[in-house]
Amino acid sequence: MTLQTIAFEKREQLKQKPNSDQLGFGKYFTDHMFLMDYDEQKDWHNPRIVPYQSISVDPSAMIFHYGQTVFEGLKAYRTEDDQILLFRPENNMKRLNQSSKRMSIPEIDEEEVLHYLQQLIAIEQDWVPSAEGTSLYIRPVVIATDPNLSVEPSKTYTFMIILSPVGSYYPQGIKPVSIRVEQQYTRAVKGGTGTAKTAANYSGAYKAQEKATEQGLSQVLWLDGIEKKYIEEVGSMNVFFKIDGEVITPELNGSILEGITRKSTIELLNHWGIPVKEQKISMAELHAYYHNGKLEEAFGTGTAAVISPIGELIWENEKLVINEGQIGEVAKKLYDTITGIQTGKVKDRYGWTV
Ligand code: PMP
Repeated sequence: MTLQTIAFEKREQLKQKPNSDQLGFGKYFTDHMFLMDYDEQKDWHNPRIVPYQSISVDPSAMIFHYGQTVFEGLKAYRTEDDQILLFRPENNMKRLNQSSKRMSIPEIDEEEVLHYLQQLIAIEQDWVPSAEGTSLYIRPVVIATDPNLSVEPSKTYTFMIILSPVGSYYPQGIKPVSIRVEQQYTRAVKGGTGTAKTAANYSGAYKAQEKATEQGLSQVLWLDGIEKKYIEEVGSMNVFFKIDGEVITPELNGSILEGITRKSTIELLNHWGIPVKEQKISMAELHAYYHNGKLEEAFGTGTAAVISPIGELIWENEKLVINEGQIGEVAKKLYDTITGIQTGKVKDRYGWTV
């Protein structure tokens, strides 16, 4: 790693910080942000921390027309003894580069950018909230900036990191959600961009989410795009089922995003001696397990909620009520352990926190 000197321009008048009960998600941004530029001669250059501000991008910039962009999402947590912890951030840097490779965006130096991120957080440390369940959400994003309408990869890019203090995902305590199994729209197909964190995967999901919301359901269960048979993800989370004592999650098949909470969940289950398998599982199989009483738990995993228990699945006009709509034992233990490690309340015996 060759660290470039990072310039720091301090904001003159610091912002007023919101109260922790006002936070919500992604509404408030800290005083500063990180920026870095790319061009073919200088590669990634000019890393700098500047006051949080609007950026100037040409209307013809490629990001606006063909959506050449990638992003990441991770959190910083404040411990009771006022340390600030990141959870497996090197995995986010790695996934950012995997996304970039898919989207023909030049890769960053993972270690170097993690180091810059740590500097930014050190400057913004007072923005890391301390109330139960709150954290500082970190959003790295790369955009294509060439002022050019050609349908081809940009030759210039901007990398940004912005920070947003966010509230608890479960202000009323952890609560199982109702999910609509989506049969018309597809999130991603093998060979497409589903394994990358890129903008259109998310905006392309709004239509299905809209249908779920109309029915008073909180999210969508995504099936594979070709046969509409195999289970892939839930909302923007990976999905797990406990069936007859064994935990199953869809195998990474070229259209599922490889979640860091998913990876941590699998590693914890292995460590605890709870059988866990990554394999294909169809909605019809799940339905059969439900009816013979073997479907014991279902839950999503992701940075936002960590573990999100699924209480109900709506599939073709049938409502499958899982574990009587209550959080299951495995989901609860995973939630307590992962959030405990993230906030320093549970000893990190895996070396996951930085
Ligand atoms: N799937 C999708 C589509 C996502 O956007 C996310 C959030 N990054 C996840 C799964 C969960 O990934 P992670 O555990 O790394 O947050």
